[in-house]
Amino acid sequence: MNAAVSPFIEAASPHTMNTYGRLPIALSRGQGVRVWDVNGKPYLDALAGIAVNTLGHNHPRLVPALQDQVAQIIHSCNYYHVPNQEKLAAKLVELSGMSNVFFCCTGLEANEAALKLARKFGHDKGIERPEIVVYEHAFHGRSIATLSATGNEKVQKGFGPLVEGFIRVPLNDIEALKKATQGNPNVVAVFFETIQGEGGINPMRVDYLQQVRALCDANDWLMMIDEVQCGMGRTGKWFAHQWAGIVPDVMPLAKGLGSGVPIGAVVAGPRAASIFQPGNHGTTFGGNPLAMRAGVETIRIMEEDGLLANAAAVGAHLRTALERELAGLAGVKEIRGQGLMIGIELARPCNVLTQRAADAGLLISVTADSVVRLLPPLIMTAAEADEVVALLAPLIRQFLAEAA
Ligand SMILES: *Cc1c(COP(=O)(O)O)cnc(C)c1O
Repeated sequence: MNAAVSPFIEAASPHTMNTYGRLPIALSRGQGVRVWDVNGKPYLDALAGIAVNTLGHNHPRLVPALQDQVAQIIHSCNYYHVPNQEKLAAKLVELSGMSNVFFCCTGLEANEAALKLARKFGHDKGIERPEIVVYEHAFHGRSIATLSATGNEKVQKGFGPLVEGFIRVPLNDIEALKKATQGNPNVVAVFFETIQGEGGINPMRVDYLQQVRALCDANDWLMMIDEVQCGMGRTGKWFAHQWAGIVPDVMPLAKGLGSGVPIGAVVAGPRAASIFQPGNHGTTFGGNPLAMRAGVETIRIMEEDGLLANAAAVGAHLRTALERELAGLAGVKEIRGQGLMIGIELARPCNVLTQRAADAGLLISVTADSVVRLLPPLIMTAAEADEVVALLAPLIRQFLAEAA
């Protein structure tokens, strides 16, 4: 433990549930891609609160807009119209080529709505026990239904019985998908992340995405793509599946959409847009004026500042620099991802690197035990990316040099 840590961190722990293996750090402010802890120690932020802080911290145009909104109205509830819901929905429809949006507050809620859409899609055509295809290593959230869709026993353990109606298949294997669904009239949807985030930065191949799209069309299944982590510009396109030139039927979003303000959304194409009727679904907080303003302003600033192009360019720069420093080292299995969503898979578990990086002044995460994950704010510059590499590469080299 870090002896310099403020006693407030220790004192704060006894009353919060023991749900996280937290580092002994409390962040108190940020500016751009940098944050400071309560003791004044600076860190370079290559995690963005897990792909949430799209615009970094204390953004000079987002903050005044949110202050203005807070002073007007924070919450009104869905008994009434919220004008910015329509504005943000129209924008998401334009960017996705889809047709209608439901707003909620988190990723798992967006995924719950997607699962409900798929089930009702089935019921509406007379399928009483609808089944949804999901993937190995997937992560869709921690509600009972979304943890059941998740492909990670650690997430599921202790929470059975799991929700039924899921068929699990491996990634990027079209024959396995065909075999698992062959002759099954109850299949209603295929549900996956374009790039698995928590599962270890595992991308779906472009040709596989296109084959799944064709299979969904041929069988009248919904193609449901969880872009909660890989969406909202992180890969250099608004949505990661757009690299494959396809359009899904249902797309849950959350993390980066509000640049830090809790927000979730399910975007639906024509086949799924009118499944929900009044009374089928809803939420108290979802789509509230503060979150909607955050979404509208986040997208506006991303467009004005060319942050998609920045994510693509700085992501490529970061990736090249990491490859130059690390590729070919014994113990580095693969460097993968797209744009500012990068995973460095090592040959053995490396969770210890999150603390070591923080000690060195860099915020990262390790996922799937052995994958160093970088998800910086989309405003990061090439020079700041070089700083990330300068801090991270020596830590990985030193880690690999230690006995396993
Ligand atoms: C984080 C995440 C979720 C869950 O989002 P919460 O807001 O934590 O509920 C779902 N799907 C993916 C792909 C995620 O990365």
